[in-house]
This record gives sequence, C-alpha cells and structure tokens, in this order.
Amino acid sequence: MKCLVAIKQVIDPYFTIRVKPDKSGVETNNVKMAINPFDEIAIEEAVRLKEQGLVQEIIVVSIGSKQVQETLRQALARGADQAILIETEQELMPLNVAKCLRVVVEQQQPQLVIMGKQAIDNDCNQTGQMLAALLGWAQGTFISKLTLDSTLNTVTVVREVDTGLETLKLKLPAILTTDLRLNTPRYISLPNVMQAKRKPLLVQPIAELGVVLKDTLKILQVEAPQARMAGKKLANVQELVELIKQHVPVVSGF
Ligand code: AMP
Repeated sequence: MKCLVAIKQVIDPYFTIRVKPDKSGVETNNVKMAINPFDEIAIEEAVRLKEQGLVQEIIVVSIGSKQVQETLRQALARGADQAILIETEQELMPLNVAKCLRVVVEQQQPQLVIMGKQAIDNDCNQTGQMLAALLGWAQGTFISKLTLDSTLNTVTVVREVDTGLETLKLKLPAILTTDLRLNTPRYISLPNVMQAKRKPLLVQPIAELGVVLKDTLKILQVEAPQARMAGKKLANVQELVELIKQHVPVVSGF
C-alpha cells in the first residue's frame, strides 16, 4: 500500500511571531520554519504503519516555495521514502491546495492520504475535507486512533468529537486528518538526517499540474494580539473577592 502524507511548512511554533510593519501579514524572512505539528503526527503514523508491514511506500508532498525543500528533507529524515514539492511563490488557501493535492493523488494513486487536521498558521481546518470532497473519497477527520484491517480494504478510526469519541469504519481509499493524541512523533537521529539527503525529492512547478487557481478571499490586515495585562499575586481569598467585586459588573436579580 502507498501512503501519501501532505505537509505544510509553518513558522516554528516555538518562535516568536512578528507582524510585518505594513500589517500585510506575518514576517517570514529570517524566521525558523518547521513542519506543521499535526503533519509531523501524520508522518509518524505513516511510518508506524510501514513498520507494521501494512504500508510499503510513504510519499510526502508539500505545496510551497523553494525553501520548503528543507522541510521536506526533515520529513524524509522522519521516515518518508520520497518527497514531492509543488513549487509556487504564491500563498495558497485551502481550496487551491486541495485542488493541487487532487492532481498529485491522481498521479501517485495512494490508497491512504494522511494530513494534519489544521495548519497552525491559518487555523483553516479545511484542506482534508475539501480534498475528500474533490476526490469523492471517504474521510475520517480529527483521528486519535487508526487501525488498518489486514485485507487493506477498510480502516477503522476513532475521532475526537464534542460529545466524546466516535468510531468509524471507512472504505479505502480514504483521507484521514490527525488530532494531537494520535501519537507522539519520535526524535530524528543524525544517521536518519544523513540518509534523508540521498532520498528522492522531486520538484514540480505548479503550472505543470494544470490547476486553475482561484483567489476567493483576500487578507486585508493582520494585527498582533493585545499584550496581556501583568498578573497580580493576592494574599488571601478576601482580596480576590474584593477584586472580583471591583471588576465584574453585578447582574441584578441573581
Ligand atoms: P488547513 O486546512 O490549512 O488548516 O490545513 C490542513 C492540512 O492540510 C495541513 O495540516 C496539511 O496536512 C495540509 N496542507 C495545508 N496546506 C498545505 C500545503 N501548502 N502543502 C501541503 N499540505 C498542506
């Protein structure tokens, strides 16, 4: 079985985000980049399936600038077999990303696509669902457990939903999106980093996919959140009660 993992390069979650002076977006020059954390979980799950002998080949794909090659190399070091970069300098929103991924899926013919539930930069949480709709495939979103059946015809997933845990059996091929509790990605060893340098990384210009990209939304302005007020240490509960009385309006009738 072939498994495709879609990964997005995002600003390293431990790096302090800076808004550009003209408020047109977030500063990405001289900023440390990393694999979107939910996508790291997706790679780890694919690697675990390969270790169990259920998956034979893992292909990672990303749509982005030349710089994304570094992130794809990290994914190869995590255990993927080959990488594809769909190169574009344009920042794409989920529907355009899903349309490009559809072409890659049609070219590569995987039975399973694993993606993150959301990218931590735009928090869209849309691409997996859109890709499933474009392909007409089954989808299991926000999964915290995955079991491939031995005949490789179905996959059983546990989803984290508001009311608790939902278990679904999906016919393959399917699109799965990862939640935080699915697994804990392993550390990458130096030999794996060295090995990753020799693994294949294909770069394909986005124009070759023949996808019509549409701009359906425009970012007007980006602003940093207001700085939080400094905290205050109180000596006892009485002080806390007084403070609440001062700051919380009293609702009459209660
Ligand atoms: P989003 O819908 O933007 O929150 O992204 C959800 C998931 O779609 C991510 O966790 C990735 O797995 C995938 N994805 C989003 N953008 C890209 C991209 N540019 N290239 C590859 N995969 C992407």
